[in-house]
Amino acid sequence: MGPPGVGKGTQARKLTEFLRVPHVSTGDILREAVHDGTALGKKVRPYLDAGQLVPDELMADLVAERLGRPDARVGFILDGYPRTLEQVAALDRILGRLGATLDRVFVFTTEETEVVRRLSGRRVCPNCGALYHVESRPPKGAGVCDSCSSALVQRPDDQEDVVRRRLLVYRAQTLPVLGAYRGRGIQVELDGGGEAETVYERLKKGLPEA
Ligand code: AMP
Repeated sequence: MGPPGVGKGTQARKLTEFLRVPHVSTGDILREAVHDGTALGKKVRPYLDAGQLVPDELMADLVAERLGRPDARVGFILDGYPRTLEQVAALDRILGRLGATLDRVFVFTTEETEVVRRLSGRRVCPNCGALYHVESRPPKGAGVCDSCSSALVQRPDDQEDVVRRRLLVYRAQTLPVLGAYRGRGIQVELDGGGEAETVYERLKKGLPEA
């Protein structure tokens, strides 16, 4: 968990390679549905474009379906969910049905100015989802994905006015969620500032013993 642009996606991708479990990013699933023009995509597009949260019931169905797939039986990295108190309760119900528990909840913190800088310079590969930044993590060839050579794009919701809306939404709806897992002894708060590698070293220290 953490504000948009704190580096959740980058860290989740690193961890997913290390732990060899699926990366379940609700933002990625929703963007793919929008891109593919599915019924779900048509329903959620206005929320994504406006930087608003998709309704909790819809998110619960989507997460239940994804976590119920066979590849998630070995474990998973959940990225971007839960984001409201209702989603925390929904996730408890989903995990209860699956007989699964959360090992860790990582909360990334950083300065808001840093978040705006990161998001406005962020570029993504629409084909493989790789993440870049025009200053701190540029691709080898300008505007082209290192892994699959597709042309990089800026997410529509990374434009400055939408970024500001997403930060407001984060403060109003997601901040109350922080700490929900503290009492359960599984929440680890860490500084999301600095290079991705440095943040990843901090993150690894917070993992449970293998
Ligand atoms: P993200 O890539 O995690 O920043 O998510 C991009 C957008 O997808 C958000 O601004 C929301 O519109 C939507 N979204 C992703 N995850 C959730 C969630 N857990 N609850 C509601 N909306 C979500």
